[in-house]
Amino acid sequence: MKLCCTTMADSDINEMRIASRPSDLIGNTPLIDLNTILIEEGVDVSNGVRLVGKLESLGPCSSVKDRLGKSMIDEAEKKGLITPGKSVLVEPTSGNTGIALAFLARERGYRCILTMPETMSVERRMMLLALGAEVVLTPKEKAVVGALAKANEIIDGLDGNGYMLNQFENDANAKIHRETTGPEIWRDTCGKIDVLVSGVGTGGTITGSTQYIKGSEEFNCTKKKAIRTIAVEPQEQMLLTAAKGGEKKGPQGPHKIQGMGAGLIPKVIDLDLVDEVIAIHSTEASEMTNKLWMSGIPVGVSSGAIVAAACKYCGRAEAEGKMVVCIIPSFGERYFTHPMFAQVKEKAEAMYKQPLPEPFDNTEFGFPTPRG
Ligand code: PMP
Repeated sequence: MKLCCTTMADSDINEMRIASRPSDLIGNTPLIDLNTILIEEGVDVSNGVRLVGKLESLGPCSSVKDRLGKSMIDEAEKKGLITPGKSVLVEPTSGNTGIALAFLARERGYRCILTMPETMSVERRMMLLALGAEVVLTPKEKAVVGALAKANEIIDGLDGNGYMLNQFENDANAKIHRETTGPEIWRDTCGKIDVLVSGVGTGGTITGSTQYIKGSEEFNCTKKKAIRTIAVEPQEQMLLTAAKGGEKKGPQGPHKIQGMGAGLIPKVIDLDLVDEVIAIHSTEASEMTNKLWMSGIPVGVSSGAIVAAACKYCGRAEAEGKMVVCIIPSFGERYFTHPMFAQVKEKAEAMYKQPLPEPFDNTEFGFPTPRG
C-alpha cells in the first residue's frame, strides 16, 4: 500500500522523527486554547482575555513529573552520584514522581524502590509494579513521614548503593522547568504570555518556569517579562496563602487534590516569584475536572483546580486583553479511584448487555458466514 499525502512535499520528509529512547519524548508538550471553558464559566471574553493550557498530561508517562524524573537522574549521573546497574534509586513517593522514576529506571538500568503509605490505591501500586519497580508500603498513620523513614532505612541496608533523589530539595527540580517548561511556554506563545497559573506540589514547576519568563540574574535568564505568577493550592490547606501574609478561610485539613498541597512549604519554591495565591476547594477542583473531561480533555483533579483558579483570574477586570497560561499537570485516567469518578464507576459496574435485533444475520455486516 502506498501512503500518500497531498500536502507534504518531499523536502518536508527528509528528516525522520523517531525517538531513540522513552525519555527523549519528555517535554515539548502542546498548548491548547481553553476559552470555551471560560465562556462556560460565564466569563466575558469579549475584552480579549485568553486562557491557554499547557498539556503536561501528554508526556510519555502522562505527567509533568516526567521532566523532573529525567532531570534528577541526569544531574545525579553527571555528578557521578549514581551508576546504572549498581545504584538503587529509593524514593518515598506515591505519586507521579514515582511513576516517572520507575519508567526512567527501566530505561537507564537502575533498580528502583518506592515507599508509600498503605492508603495508596491498588491501581497506583500496579502501575509501579508493572513498570518493574519495587513497592514498599508503610503504615497510614505515619503518612509521608513514615514513607521517608522507611526509604532511609532501606538505603542504610544497601551498602552505600542506595540513593534518594529527593524531589522536595533537589536543585534539578526548578532547573528543568527553567530550562524547558518556561522556554517552551515563551516560544509557543510567541512571548505573549501575561499570566502563569500553576499548582504547587514541590514548587518546581512554578519556580523554574517563572525564573525563565520573568528573568533571573542568578540563572542568567533574560526574558524579563513582567508576567504575573499565580500559585494554586487546596483551600483546605492554605499554607502558601498564609506564608504570603493572607488569611486561611474555612476548615483546614486533608484535601482531595493529589499532587498539590503537600502540607509543607517546599524548599524548592521561591515565594518571592509568586505574585498571588488562589485557593481552590477539592469539590470545586472535581467539578472543573469534570468540565474538562466533558470538553474532551481528560486530566487529573489538580488540573481542575488550576483551571478553576485561572477562570477566577480571567473573570477580573484586570484580565482584559491578557494571555493566561495554566499548567495542566497530569492525565486523567490515573485518578479513577478518586471520589469524583464514583458515579461513573457505579454506572459502569451496573451495566448489562442489550439484546440484538432478531433475526441476527452476520452476513449483513460483511462477514462471510452466518453466526455459528
Ligand atoms: N503533579 C501534579 C499531579 C500536580 O497537580 C502538580 C501541581 N500542579 C504538580 C505535579 C506540580 O508540581 P511541582 O510543584 O512539584 O512542580
